[in-house]
Amino acid sequence: MFVLDGEKVSDGTAIGRIYFYKRESYSVQKRQIQDVDTEVKRLEEAKEVAVGEIQVLYEQSIPKIGQNNALVFGAHQMILEDSEFWQSVIDMVVDECVNAEYAVWMISQKMEDKLRRQKRAEDMKDVSERLIRILSKQEFVAWKEDVPSILVVNDLLPSEAVRLNPKNILGIVMVGGTPTSHASIFAKAMGIPAIIAMDKLLQEEWEDTLAILDGRAGKLYLQPEGEIIERMRRQQEEEQCAHQQKKIFAGKRTKICVCANVGSDKEIELALENGADGLGLVRSEIFCLNQGKLLTEEEQFCIYKKIVEQTRGKRVVIRTWDIGGDKKVEGLTREAEENPALGLRGIRLCLAKPEIFKSQLRAIFRASAYGKLAIMFPMITSSEEVRKIKAILEEVKGELRRSKLPFDESVTIGAMLETPAAVMVSCELAKELDFFSLGTNDLIQYTLAMDRQNADLNVCYDPGHPAIWEMIRMAIKQVHTEGKQISICGELGADTRFIKELVKMGIDEFSVVPSAIPTVREMILEME
Ligand code: PEP
Ligand code: MG
Repeated sequence: MFVLDGEKVSDGTAIGRIYFYKRESYSVQKRQIQDVDTEVKRLEEAKEVAVGEIQVLYEQSIPKIGQNNALVFGAHQMILEDSEFWQSVIDMVVDECVNAEYAVWMISQKMEDKLRRQKRAEDMKDVSERLIRILSKQEFVAWKEDVPSILVVNDLLPSEAVRLNPKNILGIVMVGGTPTSHASIFAKAMGIPAIIAMDKLLQEEWEDTLAILDGRAGKLYLQPEGEIIERMRRQQEEEQCAHQQKKIFAGKRTKICVCANVGSDKEIELALENGADGLGLVRSEIFCLNQGKLLTEEEQFCIYKKIVEQTRGKRVVIRTWDIGGDKKVEGLTREAEENPALGLRGIRLCLAKPEIFKSQLRAIFRASAYGKLAIMFPMITSSEEVRKIKAILEEVKGELRRSKLPFDESVTIGAMLETPAAVMVSCELAKELDFFSLGTNDLIQYTLAMDRQNADLNVCYDPGHPAIWEMIRMAIKQVHTEGKQISICGELGADTRFIKELVKMGIDEFSVVPSAIPTVREMILEME
């Protein structure tokens, strides 16, 4: 038996045979061409075919992964329409008299490097490989999916991930990958156990070998021994039982609300299935990131309206764009910042671009006519910022009234407490705002001065650090002194080591990943 370690991405246990996903490699040869016009025409035709293929993929993926995740294909369309990309390819064909495939390949390589910083390099790769395949008239070869297997991939492009048939894919092992790559997000959304960043390369000779993927422990067992098989079978059964038990807790209620953090349709569905009392954190920027662009007021209005309608009267807290840091959006964020996590991020970016901020606020207020909405601001550090926000809110409301657009006048406003500064001035903030939510993912990062994205710091990034708990204690006390409510939406709130302590300290609400709702509910019930 061989045991390989990886990083866990999506929980669950898979037992089955290994199948290596072999991507067709579309080899590109450089050729000098005589007829430049014909080559450019060939490019235009390939683009049209690619647009058609992506549209079909988009439609097919909605029932599998939800509309918001499917928007990744909108990003692919945008790459195809991107004038910088397209013009550079044409210029290369014309100036250097080279074949279209080669020009697509060269330009996409250059752009991939640039897009890597925005975590969109895999989209570029997907689009360029599609174009090269069409240009060179190669057929797309689907992989063998007829036998349920554990899929091993080097990396998985979004369009490949979406082709997965969850029934036949028992688990996914990504040799590379990051927890936030599209493939990881898809695996989670589809409930497929997955691990990434394997410590050793898997040899192809392992193809068809019996294996066990333990998503919870981030391990892969090859040729497992009888005792491991037995243990993992029991683990699988327990997981199935736990899944059944979830249904019991979905129907129960606790005095302390248990809400969900969401950023996609699929997550909202799961949150409701698991009995969420509401949506405590809608990460609105995810909708922009999925499309790789800023959304118009109308596009946003449709998304927010759909969310409030979907949640049928439950409270929905929309966090305004937390763009910046590692979340780049073309046309809004700076290309390069010395320290992005300490840069123009969240509310700072929105206050620096008031027109863009106003378009989001208008969209949220318009959607408030259809349900119970609240607005929360990320990365707050001072009451000065809150006063600026309030002035903008008044302008927006005034404009809506003048335009006779209906909205809920009683929409409440709150702030994330995720910077040490916000916690230290929470007493002042509590006089200005209606509610608060502890964003411990960032609060830990900024209090301990440790990058939350840096895997080397995993061991030191400690949610149990006394400084964090002092901050939590302080924030709860200050907010309660002003008679306001405080929830927690950072991952710490779903950590079973800390749930009861938070209840004892007086937290008013939990907002957690949808899959954690039953566990949090169960632990609160034990105390109540
Ligand atoms: C947080 O910082 O704890 C939080 C919930 O926000 P995000 O993870 O989106 O930064
Ligand atoms: Mg945060």
